[in-house]
Amino acid sequence: MANKPKRKKGSGDDVIVIKDLYKTYNTDSDIAVHAINGVSLTIKRGEFVAIMGPSGSGKSTFMNVLGFLDSPTAGTYILDGVDGTRLSENEKAEIRNSKIGFVFQGFNLLSRTSALENVELPLYYHGGLRSHEMRDKAKELLGIVGLAGREHHTPNRLSGGEQQRVAIARSLVNNPAIILADEPTGNLDTKNTNDIMGLFTRLNKEKGLTIILVTHEPEVAEYTDRCVVFRDGNIVKDAKMKKKKSIGYQKKDQDMIK
Ligand code: ADP
Ligand code: MG
Repeated sequence: MANKPKRKKGSGDDVIVIKDLYKTYNTDSDIAVHAINGVSLTIKRGEFVAIMGPSGSGKSTFMNVLGFLDSPTAGTYILDGVDGTRLSENEKAEIRNSKIGFVFQGFNLLSRTSALENVELPLYYHGGLRSHEMRDKAKELLGIVGLAGREHHTPNRLSGGEQQRVAIARSLVNNPAIILADEPTGNLDTKNTNDIMGLFTRLNKEKGLTIILVTHEPEVAEYTDRCVVFRDGNIVKDAKMKKKKSIGYQKKDQDMIK
């Protein structure tokens, strides 16, 4: 259609474009650690990607750079059309708040604060909504992650899996371009791990959310569509996942996600 806004050619579907990225840590002992060693990677909108690799291979460093929590030593990083290389600290913080949802291994919820308030919190920082609008939005997201009725529970009254659901709802609250999850199932048992991976899968398939997730568990990576493997700060493998884990979710679950 003539009036349909056009995306810039060649960049529209790429939500992450990384070229020749390096991150070097200079430690006290004067020995430089090359945590990321010349990595290039493109991720398209709507992809569900697992980042794997042995301990110390640079996965967390890479995620920190993706999340604007750390700056690369060299190379370029374009997130959702924004070139991250020349941004001030304030501009980076603004991108973090508006374009990136974080999910951590340890949930990182405020312990004496209800599920609802934990999800609302990023909206306060972002500004622009009235308090009842923030409440409604947080409530809607808690419904989407399957926690309707538990809005007023504090984290200590929720299981690990439920706490991670709260954290996922919180990560979605500003409609981010990407979700970054560093070992999100690292503290969960098998049942809760499958639960959380089923939820990520639905969010990816039903809402088209771009999800990048670090894991060292092959069973977790099987839920994703693409696996990128790091070793010594380099990408040594980047492949489509062949064996997809069946998630077997019900029609009623599909209806939850609109
Ligand atoms: P992974 O998440 O794959 O286990 P990391 O990204 O945490 O790996 O670490 C990659 C390498 O960078 C390791 O050798 C680690 O010791 C080093 N490293 C990570 N963070 C720092 C830091 N803040 N200062 C110095 N070295 C670091
Ligand atoms: Mg790590």
